[in-house]
Amino acid sequence: MSQYKYKRVLLKLSGEALAGDQGFGIDPKVVREITEQIGEIAKDDIEIAIVIGGGNFFRGLAGSSEGMDRAQADYIGMLATVMNALALQDAFEQSGIYSRVQSAINMQEVAEPYIRRRADRHLQKGRVVILAAGTGNPYMTTDTTAALRACELEVDCLMKATKVDGVYDKDPKKFDDAQRFDHISYLEVINRQLHVMDTTATSLCMDNNIPMIVFNLGVKGNIKRALQGEDVGTVITAE
Ligand code: UDP
Repeated sequence: MSQYKYKRVLLKLSGEALAGDQGFGIDPKVVREITEQIGEIAKDDIEIAIVIGGGNFFRGLAGSSEGMDRAQADYIGMLATVMNALALQDAFEQSGIYSRVQSAINMQEVAEPYIRRRADRHLQKGRVVILAAGTGNPYMTTDTTAALRACELEVDCLMKATKVDGVYDKDPKKFDDAQRFDHISYLEVINRQLHVMDTTATSLCMDNNIPMIVFNLGVKGNIKRALQGEDVGTVITAE
């Protein structure tokens, strides 16, 4: 335990992370790989809450750009996150890791309601808490949810899982000369419009002084390495 730099963390997983190469839906093998990585840390007594996205099924903005009512489309997006949460829970259960799903939209047959104190208790008892349905409000994202829950649950850091190994000054997939930051401030992320998380999420972390770590989930063991303070991504703080 002592080799870890953080005790309680919030991990933001995008829906796409569960889709694997197919880019849509849920790939159970990929989900298992992710939960194995997380389970390893949970066994070391690190308290983990996960905010899961829904982009592998539906995004409200995409629906509204096709003419749907935005709020209605956003609710569909939030429901998509619940499917992902249940898939994660299934994989945790199969590898013997205790977990609970809490949803910001009540659906008691499949998930507990989101209750901050109860989530806190689950974390203390070593259960992975999977937070579904975003904030429960349209016009928001699961990035913002992650920042909000990170504040509420008083985590030591917010980990944002991505497909690249940190924050770059420009898109590394498009530009060969893109430079990676080992460390960058919240203000610089916002001012340079680096699109790591949305601006609401970044400013919420800034106002509440929650360090963010942006890392590549595709490299096995990276979550553990990042939490042990190894340089596997970009750290975002006030300085
Ligand atoms: N969403 C929402 N309110 C929230 C969180 C999410 O309306 O508090 C909706 C929104 O339509 C979003 C969708 O849920 O597009 C899926 O979330 P997101 O796009 O953040 O998922 P990710 O990109 O992380 O997979």
